[in-house]
Amino acid sequence: MTAGARDSRGKLTFLDHGITPSVTPEYVNPGEINPMPKMRVVQVPKAGADFEVVEREIPDPPAGHVRIRVLACGICHSDSYTKEGLFPGMAYPRVPGHEVAGVIDETGAGATTWRKGERVGVGWHGGQDGTCLTCRRGDFANCPNAQISGIHFDGGYGEYMIAPAVAVARMPESLDPAEAAPLMCAGITTFNSLRHSGALPSDLVAVQGIGGLGHLGIQFARKLGYKVAAIGRGPENAVLAQKLGAHLYIDSAATNAAAELQKLGGARAILATAPSSKAMSLLIDGLGPNGIMLVVGATADPIEVAPTQLIRGKKRIQGWYSGTATDSEDTLRFAEMSGVRPMIEKFPLAKAAEGYAHMMSGKAQFRAVLTT
Ligand SMILES: [Zn+2]
Ligand SMILES: [Zn+2]
Repeated sequence: MTAGARDSRGKLTFLDHGITPSVTPEYVNPGEINPMPKMRVVQVPKAGADFEVVEREIPDPPAGHVRIRVLACGICHSDSYTKEGLFPGMAYPRVPGHEVAGVIDETGAGATTWRKGERVGVGWHGGQDGTCLTCRRGDFANCPNAQISGIHFDGGYGEYMIAPAVAVARMPESLDPAEAAPLMCAGITTFNSLRHSGALPSDLVAVQGIGGLGHLGIQFARKLGYKVAAIGRGPENAVLAQKLGAHLYIDSAATNAAAELQKLGGARAILATAPSSKAMSLLIDGLGPNGIMLVVGATADPIEVAPTQLIRGKKRIQGWYSGTATDSEDTLRFAEMSGVRPMIEKFPLAKAAEGYAHMMSGKAQFRAVLTT
C-alpha cells in the first residue's frame, strides 16, 4: 500500500492505487477507482480451526454502534471460547478479542455518546438488551442476553471493529493502548471484584496466583489500600510479588497458606486467580470473619467445601466476571491515577496465532497483546 492520502473515514483516494493515465476513464471500473477500503482481521473460520489473516471491507457502523480503529488487543485465555467453539450457538467466521484499545473512527446514527478521535476500550461485556427484568433492575452486567465481544460479534483481532455504543469505555489520554488493552479484561476483573468485596483499607486481602490476573490483582489490592498477601507455589515469585506491591509472600508449596493467613487474623477477601479448584479449596480456611473468596480463575471442576467451613464466621464464595463498560472506565481511570500497569509482551497482528499459542502455553510474561 502506498502512503497515499485517506479521507476522514480512512477510505483510499484515487492516487493511492496509482491508476495511470494509460487507462482510459471509460474502461475503468468505478470499484477499481475507489474500491471499498479494506482492513486486515484475524478470524477463526470454524470451531477448532487455525487463525486466518484475511482482508475484509471496512464496515460502516449501524445505528447505535461505533467503528473503532484498533490500536491494541490483548490475548486472553477466554479467546479459546471463540477459537475452539466452546460457546453455544457461535457463528463463524468470527474475529476474537475482548481486550480492545483504540480510537473512535466513525459513529452510527444515535451513537451520540462518542465522537471521532476519542480514545476508547471495549471489554468482554458487549452490551445488554436493556429490556429484560435484570436490566430493568439496572443490573446490566447480569443481563442473560448480554452480548460478548469476540463471541457474539467480531472483536479486536483486527485493524477495525464495530461495537455497540453501550459497550465502549473512555480511555484516558495518558495510557499506552498496549498497556490499557489487558486492563479491559484482566484488569477490570481484578479491580471490580476487589472493590466490591467489602474489604476496607488496611484489611488483609490475599491474591492467589501471580499470572495474568494475579499480577494485576496484587497491584490493584495494594493501591486500594489493603494489606496484601500474595500466594504462589514455590519461592521464585516472591521478589516479583513484592515488587508488584505485596506486603508479604506466602509459598503455598512450602507452607499451609490457609494457616499462614489465619496467623494474620484471616483474610477479609481472597482473590482466587489461578485456575485450580484444588488450590482454591485449600485456601477457604484462610478466610477471616465475613471473609469472601472471589473466584475469577475459571475451571470446570468442583471447589470442595464443607458447609461448616462457611457457617462459622459467615464466610462466602462468590464468582465474579469482569463488568460493564462503565466498570471498565473506572478501571482505566484508577489505573491511570495509581500507576497500575500490566506486564505485557507485544505481537504484531499478523502473528496472532503465535501470540495465542504463547499465551496458551503459559509462557507469556503475564499478558500477550496484539498491536496493529
Ligand atoms: Zn478475558
Ligand atoms: Zn437484559
